[in-house]
Amino acid sequence: MKIYVDKIPEGGIELTEKIYPEALLIDTEGIIFVKPVDIKANILKAGAEMFADIALEAPVEYTCNKCLSKFEGVFKKKFNLIREVKPAEIVELDDEIRQEIILDYPMKIVCKVECKGLCPNCGQNLNTGECDCSK
Ligand SMILES: [Zn+2]
Ligand SMILES: [Zn+2]
Repeated sequence: MKIYVDKIPEGGIELTEKIYPEALLIDTEGIIFVKPVDIKANILKAGAEMFADIALEAPVEYTCNKCLSKFEGVFKKKFNLIREVKPAEIVELDDEIRQEIILDYPMKIVCKVECKGLCPNCGQNLNTGECDCSK
């Protein structure tokens, strides 16, 4: 997302943009961004400072760490940042956006709290039924 500092009006401006996940390089093991990330930014300028209130939202596909099943979710985050800017500067926010997304990745992804995972012996998904190993 690019912000043209000289185009920010007195009362601020709301910008929206979709950023393709390929452009942000945010896919990781366990989280795949299946659609573009919706970005809404409220930009305000006061003197030499620019204030940005940013809201991100994107549908994602998670992979459970325990049973490897895939499930859908929504990644949401709000954050704000302050930057010192020059009058005709073009501010590129993609790097900040990427970092904020990565900071919010869950440490552990599980499909449900009581997920039983896979049998270490035969690989059977124990949520869908017991295997014969324990017998
Ligand atoms: Zn699971
Ligand atoms: Zn088993």
